[in-house]
Amino acid sequence: MPNVVVVGAGVSGLTTALLLSKKPGYNVTIVAKHMPGDYDIEYTSPWAGANFLPMSDKASCKWEKNTWPELARLAKDVPEAGIHFQDTLVLNRLKDATTATGQWLSELTSPDPWFKNTLPDFRIIPTSALPPTADSATAFTSVCINTALYLPYLTSQCLRNGCTVSRSILAHIADASLLHSSGKKADVVVNCTGLSASKLGGVMDKSVIPARGQIVVVRNEAPHMLTISGTDDGDEEVCYIMQRAAGGGTILGGTYQKGNWESQPDPSTALRIMKRAVELCPELTGGKGVEALSVVRHGVGLRPYREEGVRVEKEMVGGVWVVHNYGHGGSGYQASYGTAEGAVELVDEVVGVKAKL
Ligand code: FAD
Repeated sequence: MPNVVVVGAGVSGLTTALLLSKKPGYNVTIVAKHMPGDYDIEYTSPWAGANFLPMSDKASCKWEKNTWPELARLAKDVPEAGIHFQDTLVLNRLKDATTATGQWLSELTSPDPWFKNTLPDFRIIPTSALPPTADSATAFTSVCINTALYLPYLTSQCLRNGCTVSRSILAHIADASLLHSSGKKADVVVNCTGLSASKLGGVMDKSVIPARGQIVVVRNEAPHMLTISGTDDGDEEVCYIMQRAAGGGTILGGTYQKGNWESQPDPSTALRIMKRAVELCPELTGGKGVEALSVVRHGVGLRPYREEGVRVEKEMVGGVWVVHNYGHGGSGYQASYGTAEGAVELVDEVVGVKAKL
């Protein structure tokens, strides 16, 4: 029975562990410094919105495309997962076409994106119905995830399938092979350490940097999820609104600050986030302006941005087989099942290889 240690209890580690635990024969231990319930700047997953707004292009969409069916199934059939469907409006301004944010969101704002036949109800908003801020817009049905419910849900599913979960702080990825609950050396270690992959011994991937996201969580409700191709407050600031399922509050975002490790919310940034959200969606406060926002908390999370994109690869490190699944940037939830499936395939390959040795 192959023994696997998954390092990391964010959305990447828990999803990978869950898929492994569903396969007959795997004995899975999850080891992590941070667990669902913790709020820490080194632990990105609780801070995410989180919704499904594709960022990949047609050439690299497979991780997101393969994730949608499972998120849609959970939203439809599994209310305790804390995921619901939301009508979604994506606004586009011509003046953002050449900016960094505009480029980043170019597939999302395209009238002909790869996901037009994947996400339900995709439509182009007629010019006559556009808000004054936008030059064009699309709409579709997507999902929004209440991370405070979903991360514990994933953990519970792993436990139900027999995974063991424990806390540990690793200095080197190969050390994880000695932490399997059986007491035996693990056959494979899966590395789902997010941004910490840049500092962890045996990995030290310096191409992983933070893309800092500051958010405001409010009690006010929005009629739909909303985002726009840019703001007038510089390339590091973005504007999006999403209402989490099951009382999780509405997330107002945000920022996308590459290379910025600051853990504390900046008050003037928070004010701009709230102002932009209410200007774009006055229904948030029933037309009563920014003062009528009821703030639950301010927050900061660091997206694990990797220039080349997510790393789903296997390699031998210090005599231990390691399968990597990190560097998801702003797409950890919306690419979670796709990348976890990719990681599981690599674990299968390693175990197959070992069996032949
Ligand atoms: P993490 O959640 O950071 O988990 C890493 C795990 O590894 C933790 O358990 C940690 O303790 C453990 N670990 C690390 N180092 C060690 C060590 N040395 N020893 C032991 N354990 C270790 N994504 C979307 O798909 N949709 C969205 O709408 C969205 N919105 C976002 C909004 C904001 C403001 C932010 C900040 C992010 C958003 N994201 C979104 C991105 C998403 O949150 C991340 O891509 C995702 O959370 C990354 O998950 P992860 O499991 O890879 O890393």
